[in-house]
Amino acid sequence: MARLVLPYRSSGLARTSLLGLISAAHVQATSSGCLLSRPALSRSCLLIKSEVVSRRSQRFPYHSSSRGKEIGRRLICSVATEPLKLQEPQMETPKEIFLKDYKQPDYYFDTVYLKFALGEENTIVSSEIVVVPRVEGSSSPLVLNGVDMKLVSIKVDGKKLKADDYLLGPRHLTLLSPPSSKFILQIVTDICPQKNTSLEGLYKSSGNFCTQCEAEGFRKITYYQDRPDIMAKYTVRIEADKSLYPVLLSNGNLLEEGDLEGGKHYALWEDPFKKPCYLFALVAGPLESRDDTFVTRSGRTVSLRIWTPAQDVPKTAHAMYSLKAAMKWDEDVFGLEYDLDLFNIVAVPDFNMGAMENKSLNIFNSRLVLASPETASDGDYAAILGVIGHEYFHNWTGNRVTCRDWFQLSLKEGLTVFRDQEFSSDMGCRPVKRIADVCRLRSSQFPQDAGPMAHPIRPHSYIKMDNFYTGKFCCFITLPGIWSMSMLKFDRLLCHLTPFKMLLTYFNISILFCGATVRSMLLL
Ligand SMILES: [Zn+2]
Repeated sequence: MARLVLPYRSSGLARTSLLGLISAAHVQATSSGCLLSRPALSRSCLLIKSEVVSRRSQRFPYHSSSRGKEIGRRLICSVATEPLKLQEPQMETPKEIFLKDYKQPDYYFDTVYLKFALGEENTIVSSEIVVVPRVEGSSSPLVLNGVDMKLVSIKVDGKKLKADDYLLGPRHLTLLSPPSSKFILQIVTDICPQKNTSLEGLYKSSGNFCTQCEAEGFRKITYYQDRPDIMAKYTVRIEADKSLYPVLLSNGNLLEEGDLEGGKHYALWEDPFKKPCYLFALVAGPLESRDDTFVTRSGRTVSLRIWTPAQDVPKTAHAMYSLKAAMKWDEDVFGLEYDLDLFNIVAVPDFNMGAMENKSLNIFNSRLVLASPETASDGDYAAILGVIGHEYFHNWTGNRVTCRDWFQLSLKEGLTVFRDQEFSSDMGCRPVKRIADVCRLRSSQFPQDAGPMAHPIRPHSYIKMDNFYTGKFCCFITLPGIWSMSMLKFDRLLCHLTPFKMLLTYFNISILFCGATVRSMLLL
């Protein structure tokens, strides 16, 4: 994931250093992109002020004087970034989550079938999950995450559960004694994407349904074990009004599509690779696409589509060029070939997280995809090249190889930032790219490390995962690792390894710089 930041506007040196990175021959767009990010900054400031005022009158049960300055510092971090929803009376007291408390899940999910009936008032989400106990024969409670939704029904192996078979709270649904061997869990929930203003989970904005599930947005879609080490194969059926939502997208390959009664239509998507739920994506709306193809080094033809509102399609030429360049570069340098037959990018103006690497369905804020020669600067073109590459590179460093838990976030982001920096360097001028990156490190990272927001690359605890995704997320989490690697002369070494060695090096880096173990990563 990439936050919506404007790294090259912070200093004259950084802006100047990008000149000449992009070939004008590839630029054919015709008008300007969108400008965002100021509202987001303003919102953050408001949150800081309101939360500080609010918290002064509250007592946290775990904020005892005996725990000293360290916890006080963590509270400052949470005050600065937690959303206003914490003031709602039904919310539970936030709990501090510790890395040392990590436990393997008691249940794994094998396959997940999701059906979305998208509506104007509400959306019905039906899930069918094949659940496998980690230890055959044991029957501990199965705890599912879920917020802001109405439970319609719950069945185990086709049998509706009685009220005393489960506990339903504001954040969890707990099956008290599920079967001790493999079983099928069916849950139907009722959600209101139109009223979802958090821009997490499934929401509707500007006529489009859109999702954002990293880090913990999937729990706003259906009850689920919302953690990265629960990886399953997804099949997704989307049903919606055909005139309002002519395009229905999800992860993987399109298996089927067709018309339904009442002016509706459907699309059935299947992702053949297991993935954590934070990589789930759904988009539905009146979008049009720029289409192209890429032939992989093994001879497979991959369809490429960049979806935008109709008026923005002419501005996607450079993004398509960037995507094809990234696919070729990953094959040439890292030996990594794209693994599906279709790759979709969606660019919409209401996507708050900047860019998101959902498996085969990357979603971007328009600002990071659209460009035209009339209004875009060299820096804009360079930023688009870098972020398109970054999200594409996550396919192998983050998606197919993912993190055990969110404490390991810097592993996927660190290596992927490193890869996009190498990509931009090879496509443009390595020394000036390096100078720009170091300027960014010095202007954003160093002041943060010297202030109260400082924390290790891999923290020992957090209160809310969203605290990792503050405005300085990219620099704070990723650049120290990259910087350290560069100091140790690792950077060019990595680029000449086979895929296997590259992944092995990925693990080694995790051990070197984050203190993680190989068991903290999942390799599929
Ligand atoms: Zn990323």
